[in-house]
Formats: sequence, C-alpha cells, structure tokens
Amino acid sequence: MTSRSPVWHPFTQHAVQPEAVMISKGEGAWLEAADGRRIFDAISSWWVVTHGHRHPHIMQAIKQQADRLDQVIFAGFTHEPAEKLARRLVEITPPELEYVFFSDSGSTSVEVALKMALGFWRHHGSNRNRILALEGAYHGDTIGGMSVGERGVFNAPYDPLLFDVQRIPFPAAGREQATLDALDAACMKGDVAALIVEPLVLGAGGMLIYPPHVLAGMKRVCAAHEILFIADEVMTGWGRTGTLFACEQADISPDIACYSKGLTGGSLPLAVTLCRADIFDAHYSADRSRTFFHSSSYTANPIACAAALANLEIWQREPVMERISAIAAFHQDKLARFRDDERFSNVRQIGTIAALDLAAKDAGYLADIGPRLYRGFLARGLLVRPLGNTIYIMPPYCSTAHDLDLVYDAVDELADESD
Ligand SMILES: *Cc1c(COP(=O)(O)O)cnc(C)c1O
Repeated sequence: MTSRSPVWHPFTQHAVQPEAVMISKGEGAWLEAADGRRIFDAISSWWVVTHGHRHPHIMQAIKQQADRLDQVIFAGFTHEPAEKLARRLVEITPPELEYVFFSDSGSTSVEVALKMALGFWRHHGSNRNRILALEGAYHGDTIGGMSVGERGVFNAPYDPLLFDVQRIPFPAAGREQATLDALDAACMKGDVAALIVEPLVLGAGGMLIYPPHVLAGMKRVCAAHEILFIADEVMTGWGRTGTLFACEQADISPDIACYSKGLTGGSLPLAVTLCRADIFDAHYSADRSRTFFHSSSYTANPIACAAALANLEIWQREPVMERISAIAAFHQDKLARFRDDERFSNVRQIGTIAALDLAAKDAGYLADIGPRLYRGFLARGLLVRPLGNTIYIMPPYCSTAHDLDLVYDAVDELADESD
C-alpha cells in the first residue's frame, strides 16, 4: 500500500487523471518507468530536451562545475560560466542583441522582457505602456505571461489580476494582411510600448504555424512606429523550427528576445532575455532609480550556465542541424498519408514539430478527447500530450526513424478508436 502523494502536479486535474507515472531513468529519447516500462519521449519532456536525455557532454559539464562553484549571488559578483555564456549568446543570436539578462524560466524571461520594454520608454520620458500580443498566444503562467497570453479557461480565475493587452488577429492562411493592418492600426494609437510574439509557431495555443514573411512584416510595422519587438523564442529556439532561432527565417533581429527551454539542452532550468544596446543604455545612469530592478534568487546559476555552454558546444561539434533536417524530412514523409485522410485536418509541420487535428464532435481543450488520446499513447509506450484534439509530435533530435514510426502508427490506430 502506498500512501497518498502530497505532490500537486502542473496542469493536472487530480480528480480525474490517473496516477502520475514514476520515472526512474532517462536515456536519449527514451524514459524508463520504475515498473520497467519504456516510454518514448515524443514531446521532449514538455519541449525542453533537444539532444536527448543525459547527453554525456552536458552531464560531464554539470559534474565538473559542481566541483567548483554551485551558486553565488549575481549582483556585484559574476563567474566564468555566465560570462562565457553571455558572450557566446551575443555571437549566435540575431546581430542587434547585445546584452544578456539571466533568469530561471521561460515565464520569467518574458516578465523581464516586458519590464525592459516599459523601463525603456519610462526612462525616455514617455508613458507608452500598452503591450500588443497575438490572439492565441502563450507566454507563460506568471501574471505578466498570462496577461499577454490568450485568455481562457486556464486563467479565468486570475482575470481580475491580469493587465489589459490589445490583441492582433493570428495571421491565418489568407488573412496575413489583416494581421499587419490590425497591427499598424494599433500602433497608431501612440501608447504602445511593445509587441510580443512567438515567432513562426504559436506553441501552447495549438501549434499554429505562420510564414516568415508575416513575421518580417510584423517587425517592419513595429520598426516604422518605433515600437519594441519582443520575440518569445522560449519554445521556437534551439532548432525547433529548423533553424537555430525562428527569427533567422524572417531575417529579422528582434529588439528583445527570450530563450529558455532548450538553452541547457533541457537538463537544468535557465532562461535569458537579450536586448538591444539602447535598451540597456536607457537604464544606464548615475541616477539609481533607473536601475533595472529585477532578480531571481538563482539568476545565472553557475551549474545551469555550465550546462548551457556544453549545449552550445554540442551544436558546434555534432551534426545537430543534420539530425533536425532528418526529423523534418521524416515528419513530411509520414504526414503525407494523413493529408487526404478525412479523420484529420490542418496537417502541418515546421522543423521538428509536426501537428494535425483529429476530427471530433467536441474538440475543446477540456473535451475528453485529449486525455483519451494521451492514455492511448501511453498504453503504447509513448509520451504524447495532445492539446485538445490537436496531436503534435516534437521529439528530441536523437530520435530515430523507428521511434517516430511508433508514434505515427499509434496516431493512425488511435484516430479510429476516438469516435
Ligand atoms: C513554455 C513557454 C513559456 C514559459 O516557459 P516556462 O519555462 O514554462 O516558464 C513562455 N513562452 C513560450 C512561447 C513557451 O512555449
């Protein structure tokens, strides 16, 4: 007999969900449960694991750093892993990003980005304070992140605490110009501080993809109105969309960018917010009231920074891009059989992300279809967590064709069982 666990799990309705699976080991693209079951991690443990679980180079870097320095206050002090990492990030991210602010989660990196934007305008003597965001966006679960994200069942109880944001329609196919026109109109009002977007893919909003030219168009409109452009690359970064960062495909440099999830290869929590020099400069003053008043206790944790540096070395040393291309090609190939299949709609793919919507009578996020599919996949040894009726696959880059075949075969089978 086991006694009831005191753990309160994230995004989990304990009253109806089965007991959590006890995982005792991770290796490559696979998880091992305490009862011996092997489970293919088809969603990279919530989109964070890029090179696979326990990549030896990252594990070694963590061990070596743990022998030297575990943690140190980051105000007034610094350390080599953070200094090296910041320099490398400035080198590999879009050219205009010159300063690096460390934090510990994607949500926090978004809060930091919003605070940088408002600080920038305030220190320039402007009261621009409105944020624009895309409909269907997800930017994290803190109050600021929820405020700029789509409103719905997830945040209804907290609505009184959320600040007002103006929404720009999602650039659905054929409606791209409407998005740019709405953005332009919103920018005219003169009170806008920044636009925040997930470049090329709205992740938690349902894996909705839009083309690079629209991303470039949004950046162009913002630049014309001198409005800050914030790229939330927390999910899209580190190769997910087929390039190291999604903004590269639109050939744009955001004014502020957030990166987290794959930053440490998915091994330890770490996030960064990068910004243009003039945003740092707006806070640079003998006047202490202009200080950027933000910190997380574990800001730039040395072990996490060492893991991130090891991740960057893997990108240099190993054929990561080739692996990503191979997964992208495999997705293309396997999705083909579902494109004319009336059980599915909106079959889509970008880089290592594949998604398709299962036809269902009740398709909302709270409908039973998501949990039923989840249980079906799990029974087949696959970790797949549909968003409502949207099934998506976002595997670690070390996944094999055989691993992915298991998922696609299960998609085919489960679609028949789900009516
Ligand atoms: C996951 C995610 C976040 C939040 O990151 P956490 O580390 O979970 O706080 C923010 N923005 C986007 C686009 C995300 O996908």
